[in-house]
Amino acid sequence: MNHECRECGKPASKRCASCTLSTAWYCSADCQRRNWIEHIFECNPRRNINTSDYLALAVHKNLFPDDPQTCEDFGFARAFSIENRSSLLGLYIGLIERLKISPKKIRQWQVEGTLVENIKATFSTVPAHSRGRYYPWFLRNQWVLDRRLPRPRDPVDEMMMRGWQYVRGGPNTDTPDEIAAEMSDWSEDKQACQLLCNLILSQMHPSPELAIWVTFGFCACHDEEGERRLAWVYTELIKFGKCTFEELYHAYHTSALTSLFNSKGLTAQTEAIPHLEEVLKRSPRVFHSVCYLKQFVLAQGEGAEPIPSVTLDYGFINCIDEAETSRLKDLYRQIFALPRARADLMKLHEACVQGKLYDYVGQLVKFQKRDKKVFKRLLKNPYPLPDV
Ligand SMILES: [Zn+2]
Ligand SMILES: [Zn+2]
Repeated sequence: MNHECRECGKPASKRCASCTLSTAWYCSADCQRRNWIEHIFECNPRRNINTSDYLALAVHKNLFPDDPQTCEDFGFARAFSIENRSSLLGLYIGLIERLKISPKKIRQWQVEGTLVENIKATFSTVPAHSRGRYYPWFLRNQWVLDRRLPRPRDPVDEMMMRGWQYVRGGPNTDTPDEIAAEMSDWSEDKQACQLLCNLILSQMHPSPELAIWVTFGFCACHDEEGERRLAWVYTELIKFGKCTFEELYHAYHTSALTSLFNSKGLTAQTEAIPHLEEVLKRSPRVFHSVCYLKQFVLAQGEGAEPIPSVTLDYGFINCIDEAETSRLKDLYRQIFALPRARADLMKLHEACVQGKLYDYVGQLVKFQKRDKKVFKRLLKNPYPLPDV
């Protein structure tokens, strides 16, 4: 029988003697040694696996370590942002692969508490122009490994602090932990308002992955430009002080956002967004299922299930496998991307409640001949319900 070397793929005739893994074949001792970084985790090593092994694997694969103790010991846990963690990994790659410091040695430094000094000592032996870009990053960000240095604020905390200042109506002395503790007793509606404020005060707006994308009416906006226009309305209210947090919360909680817009002189801006009033009229509790359809279709990330009303109303219940589900999803995605003059949120809703989805969708998208039968089956729903 022919075997492939795990490391280089060439024909292999030697198998790892320490374990019974049927795939641990090697062409040479050299390849076996090189593969050990990965194989140690599935073999029966004669010593315990420690954080230096996880660090070696991370460097070898150019992936962040996933072992919690390794993240803790080598600064990945403290580095919080992707940018910082990538730079930190780049630093270890330089040390291990270019400067040939063994992961074992690096772990020893860490255990002795001399990691920072020894990293500096190692790089100081290299001419400045060949130290790469991660070492200068490290010199600016030594707090990642040195716990005595203050850690810059986490951007997510920063965002929460900005929102909290608005909630309090004045300077804020609470820490992120205190804020989180206080908010944990809040109602879902109040927390939703706080989240909107955090985003708006950080010059962002909700995306379809968030529930508040629906409940604050962003689902009514036809495109990104429309969403920015609505975000601007909330900016006027929140950032430029047209209303207090309590006013906003009260309006949201009592389905009265439209009246709030009108009372603050924002009628012209909000009327320019078709269907916004219709969507917000019973928010945050009741929405046409078309709003959730749009959210389901536009949110990033596969594998999520639509809520039951979307499943029934928009034909996902008719899909016999995942391939059909994603086909139907793609079809709706295509419709939501059409110019507003052609595809209208409420017209889709009306077609749905009249049981005419296939006809309506067929006017917007030209079905291939062979797709007609499939979509005719998929776009069926139980409407209109018979009169009783
Ligand atoms: Zn080999
Ligand atoms: Zn083995």
